[in-house]
Amino acid sequence: MYTIRKTSKKQSAKNRLIAQSKQRLLNEYGCCQICGNRRSLQLAHLLPKGRYPEYYLESRNHALLCHECHELYDNDVDFRKSQTWAYNQIYQFAPLEAGRYFRIN
Ligand SMILES: [Zn+2]
Repeated sequence: MYTIRKTSKKQSAKNRLIAQSKQRLLNEYGCCQICGNRRSLQLAHLLPKGRYPEYYLESRNHALLCHECHELYDNDVDFRKSQTWAYNQIYQFAPLEAGRYFRIN
């Protein structure tokens, strides 16, 4: 009998970094960075991991959002555009991508 490794070592290391980032944000904010909700908090990627996988582990690309705000941020470009703080945070490490994702340039 042998065991099947469900998660590769590389993936486990990434998951650990993501978990650390979430813990750091929980310590720093403790609530949704958009609406202040303290429930159903998630680690959000300001530049989405599907379109911008290169920033998956970038800590400045991480934010603590509640489920509702996370959905809105990901799917509603007008809502996203109203979050100037998020644009400014992305601009620090990926100015071109910030403009594209927020459809500003
Ligand atoms: Zn929220």
